[in-house]
Formats: sequence, structure tokens, C-alpha cells
Amino acid sequence: MTSCRLCGSVSLASVVDLGATPPCERILTAAELDGPEATYPLHLRVCTECWLAQIPPLITPEDTFTEYAYFSSYSTSWVEHAKKFVDGLTLPDDAFVVEVASNDGYLLQHVVQRGVRCLGIEPSANVGQAARERGVPTRTAFLTPETGQTVRAEHGPASVVVANNVYAHIPDVVGFTKGLRALVADDGIVSIEVQHLLTLIELNQYDTIYHEHFQYYTVASAQRALASGGLALVDVELLPTHGGSIRLTAVPEEAAGEPSQAVLDVLDREKAAGLTELSGYAEFAARVGKVRRDLLRFLIDAAERGEKVVGYGAPGKGNTLLNHCGIRPDLLAYTVDINPYKHGKFTPGTRIPILSPEQIAEDRPDYVLILPWNLREELSRQLSYVHEWGGRLVFPIPNLEIVQ
Ligand SMILES: [Zn+2]
Repeated sequence: MTSCRLCGSVSLASVVDLGATPPCERILTAAELDGPEATYPLHLRVCTECWLAQIPPLITPEDTFTEYAYFSSYSTSWVEHAKKFVDGLTLPDDAFVVEVASNDGYLLQHVVQRGVRCLGIEPSANVGQAARERGVPTRTAFLTPETGQTVRAEHGPASVVVANNVYAHIPDVVGFTKGLRALVADDGIVSIEVQHLLTLIELNQYDTIYHEHFQYYTVASAQRALASGGLALVDVELLPTHGGSIRLTAVPEEAAGEPSQAVLDVLDREKAAGLTELSGYAEFAARVGKVRRDLLRFLIDAAERGEKVVGYGAPGKGNTLLNHCGIRPDLLAYTVDINPYKHGKFTPGTRIPILSPEQIAEDRPDYVLILPWNLREELSRQLSYVHEWGGRLVFPIPNLEIVQ
């Protein structure tokens, strides 16, 4: 990586180097186990001019998202989160809502239920098809300035444009932001949810660094990214989703007043955490090393005692963790996932079998390592049956925790 993708500066400082791993969504079929597997460096750096944290764009979104295995509706808490957002929207009579990266219609289905006109823009053909099957109009496309203008010409400007968990996934952040501006009405709003770099750093969430996440935002760097496409940040809300996210509300810059007090408060917090200078990033790599050593020590000790550890979930973040730690089936026999698309397949790089969740009750393992730790409350409830045979849940992040 030679220069910052947002401001063009060549002053990029290393935050953490996680080595080389396969892209985290490229799960393997049994037939692929005898073949080679490409790995790519996973090195997070921060720009010391605009403070956008970023990794080099080594894979393209087209590689990842043309046939995608992630269906948002598999997370009941995420669907509930989306419903709450839609219920809270104040919309004009002739409203038109567009969601970018609308996935399987997990959010827009609630807009349809309100009787409001909407359109999803979703690059993955298979996921977009699932949305259309539940009655959500969906266009198969990536958002570019041109796509934005075409949709505006065909459907009119959008009162609300939603872009959840996608602002990190696009290497052309400036082009994507211009696409948002093309979609939104001059008096409309853009609502973006994206992971917050502040919690990533503070809570050791290093496994959320993966090749599909090209950049990691503070409110300060997000404000600058929005401005690159003609949008002004007017409000921010801190959310617990994905271990700590920000909901950014932006409007066309011509229509913007002063940012809210919440924006000023979060900017102050980020500054206090040292994220607008190098000091805030200095100790992160050392803390990442400790997370790895603690987890490996636990797994090795359990294996020595003859205890069985299995995983729960096969999310992208789990694959960063498993690869960075070098965990193989001798330490983690298998993992399970609610998504049937992944059953009978194997985690990238570490080649751990992915089975159906029923396997846990059948095998009664001593420990279940929770890979999607961000769904802690939901999964603690769902997996409470593990305690019936004395099994324990283990959370690797922010620090190793074994729940009694
Ligand atoms: Zn920069």
C-alpha cells in the first residue's frame, strides 16, 4: 500500500500485522481440501493525515460478493435491530427508501410492511434473490456514482438511503459516497451503520479486521469520508451491534447545519483515546498478541486434559481469529453454524469442519468457543442447554473468558 485511499497521503503507520491468511468468507468444500489455497497479507495501517485505518485492497468486492454465503436474516437480533430502525423512521407521504447492500431484505421487509415504496441494491445475486422471494424489490448491482444516478433517474430521489455494514466493504470509498449522494434527495438523509474503530481498539476486537473490510472508521475519519462525496455528518449514535458500531446520519452538504452535540461528544472521546495521533494505536498489537496466547494456552491445556472443545459459528471474524492463532482441528474439533449453506464445508486456512448446530447436543463437548462473540446475549440464551451436562461457554474477545 503506497498511499491513503481517502486523502492520498503516503504517511501510513502500522497498527497490527496479522500475517497472511485466506479471505475469511472463502469457505472450502471437501473437494477443495486437496488443493492449494491463496493467502493475502492482513496488515492494518492508519493514515497519519486523515486517520483512516485501512488495509490494502488485495481482493475485490466482486470476488467476495457475487455469490455470498451470508444471509442477514439468520441473526434474529439483527432483524429485530433493523425493524426498530424502520419503525422509528419519520417518512414523508410519498417516501422512497433505498438500502444499499440490502442483503436478503432483512431491513426493507419492514419498509414493505409499512406500505412504503423501496428498493434494495444488492451485489450478490443469490442473496438478492432471497430478498425478492420475500417481496422486497431488489436490483443486483454494486453502488457506484453511475448506479446511483440510474436509480435516481428511474425511481426518483430517495427520502432515506440506508447503508448498513457496507461502508467498510468498499475499497472505492469516495466513489461509493458519491453514489450515496446521487441516490439521496436534496432534503433527504443518508443513514450509515459501520463498526467503530474506537471499540475495535479499546476492546481488542482485532478479529473484525479482515480482507473484506478495507477501512475502519472513527467518527472523525467517517466525517472526512462523507465530505469526499458531498455529504455532511449531522448526527451520530453509538450502537452495541457488532461489538460497537456508529450510526452516522448525513445530509447533502448544501442542506447541512451544524453537527449535533453527539457528534462533538464522540469526536472528543476519540481524541481523548488518542485516535487522532499515533499514541492511541501504539499498544494495540501487544494486546492482540496476548489475546492469541491466552486462547492458545486454554486450548492446549484442554487438549492435554483430554477435554473436547468445539466452536459455535463460522463468521468472518472467527476465521481471522482461527488463522491468526493457528488453530486446527486438533485444538478445535469442529465448529457449527446456523447457516445450512456452510454445512459439510471447512473454514478457510484452518480447515475446521463446519457442522449443523444439533451436533453440539449430540456430542456434549466440555467447552463451546463462541466465535461471533458480538452476539453474546443471544447466544448465551440459545446455548444455555450446554450447561445441562456441565459444558461451558468460552468467549475469546475482548479477553479470554470461561463462563461457569
Ligand atoms: Zn488519509
